[in-house]
Amino acid sequence: MSGPDYDYIVIGAGSAGCVLAARLSEDDRVRVLLLEAGSFEPLPTMAVPPAWPSLGGSEADWADHTVPQIANGDTVPFPRGRGLGGSSSINAMNFLRGHWTSYDAWASVGGTGWGFDALLPYFVRSETVADQARRDPGLRGQAGPQRVGPAVERHPISSAGLAAALSVGHRLARDVGGGREEGFGWGDLSIADGRRQSAADSYLRPVLVRPNLRVLADTMATRLLLNGDRCLGVEYRHAGHLHEARSRTEVVLAAGAVGSPALLLHSGIGPRAHLQQVGVRALVDLPGVGANLHDHPMCGLVYRATTTVPPGVNNHGEVQGLVRTHRASTGPDVQIQFVDVPLRAPSLPGPDLGEGYTIMVALMLPESRGTVRLSGGSTEAPPLIDPRYYTAPGDLDTIVAALHLARRIGDAAPLDRWRAEEVLPGPAGWQDLESLRAYARRNLRTYSHYGGTCRIGTDEHAVVSPDLTVHGVTGLSVADASVMPCPISANTNATVYAIAERAADLIGARF
Ligand SMILES: Cc1cc2nc3c(=O)[nH]c(=O)nc-3n(C[C@H](O)[C@H](O)[C@H](O)COP(=O)(O)OP(=O)(O)OC[C@H]3O[C@@H](n4cnc5c(N)ncnc54)[C@H](O)[C@@H]3O)c2cc1C
Repeated sequence: MSGPDYDYIVIGAGSAGCVLAARLSEDDRVRVLLLEAGSFEPLPTMAVPPAWPSLGGSEADWADHTVPQIANGDTVPFPRGRGLGGSSSINAMNFLRGHWTSYDAWASVGGTGWGFDALLPYFVRSETVADQARRDPGLRGQAGPQRVGPAVERHPISSAGLAAALSVGHRLARDVGGGREEGFGWGDLSIADGRRQSAADSYLRPVLVRPNLRVLADTMATRLLLNGDRCLGVEYRHAGHLHEARSRTEVVLAAGAVGSPALLLHSGIGPRAHLQQVGVRALVDLPGVGANLHDHPMCGLVYRATTTVPPGVNNHGEVQGLVRTHRASTGPDVQIQFVDVPLRAPSLPGPDLGEGYTIMVALMLPESRGTVRLSGGSTEAPPLIDPRYYTAPGDLDTIVAALHLARRIGDAAPLDRWRAEEVLPGPAGWQDLESLRAYARRNLRTYSHYGGTCRIGTDEHAVVSPDLTVHGVTGLSVADASVMPCPISANTNATVYAIAERAADLIGARF
């Protein structure tokens, strides 16, 4: 391929970027450039499912931290992927859709065309599920690039946890990640033949031979090129030099829930007052850029085990429970997972937890919202990330209610053979409501499900229209986790694939 011009420039080769580049380049008349800040080469441990926690802090992680949180007075590690596959190359490989009510909530806040039924063909198109005989073929994909399936070799903590949940009255979900069910079940994992399948593995690497697709790794997009309200292309840094690439049809931001708003802000597209504060010339006053950051905070009960817990061979958490703490909730509002290692936050110091396991709880429909802001005009400076966990009044009480649900499961007979004692929070944590709230605040971790910072909508705080074009700018769209108007009741990766699949149809139609 020669010449500087492309039809589409996709920025960020993460989950969304890999899907977009692969789908847009299916049409051999279309020339696509994909830019990625991180490396082209995968780290060897990426392929090894149980090794995923070791990728945090590696060169494949931007290794951000939040600003100090009101909840715990401390910063919170905020990992996100960097390199081909983005976060899908370092994530925990749960591959679940949210409950259908999550997406219908998007449609009801201005995301016309983004309800569950509208997204379903795109979920289906993205995946090939294992165990097809027990799946609803109208719901699950049988020919998509991403291979997913439940744990082949099941961990005994997951099996005992599932039995414990059912024994205290939770229902069995036959396909917990399908989007229609609530309850507990074996979730799908993005693992095939014992190896991680990132979006780079499933979508991008197989099509790298296409002559109409160019991938530039180790390449940081530094600024969008604007002429009035028209986006013409992008400035990027590669091998220490600045270059420009021009797009004939569209620049598509797929840099993730932190990277996409950060690049818009560096390009002068965002809230005017903030841009002035950090010395960036405001070109388009778009107040919603970087606002509405949502995430799933998590906490857990940690148990010392009676005996050695076998090492996990999958992702350390194979069973998911999607449950409601309040009957009146619009959908499942917490997720419970059985984790085959003891887990706690850095903000909760204490002795080594030794041999054990965790019943993890995560808030799925938090009302707290935060921000991504620039710390200065330089693209080298890390952004200021403030999720404002537990600042909405109901969020802390919902996670406390989830801890009560988890404890009932943790005390149930099927876990007797594993349970020596509950070490966290331990008896002191259950003294009263305030002790439990304090425990949840101090044992605060992120589930790394960031979204919402360039949300879909038609109001003045929305960043993109339902067709994903940026308000007030032509030739520019966003298509990644940042467009989710509100949180979904599941891990976010499968949903990002569906967003990008639909985006490829919407954006491809503009060629
Ligand atoms: C540790 C961890 C565990 C997780 N576990 C799970 C899980 O088990 N299941 C699940 O469903 N979800 C999980 N997630 C979340 C899920 O992986 C993400 O929601 C999803 O991958 C986000 O996709 P994205 O395309 O929006 O962003 P990303 O996949 O993060 O991609 C953004 C890409 O853009 C690149 N980029 C950013 N800025 C620039 C720039 N200026 N120029 C060029 N490139 C740039 C980045 O390097 C990155 O490659 C996890 C995430 C993390 C970090």
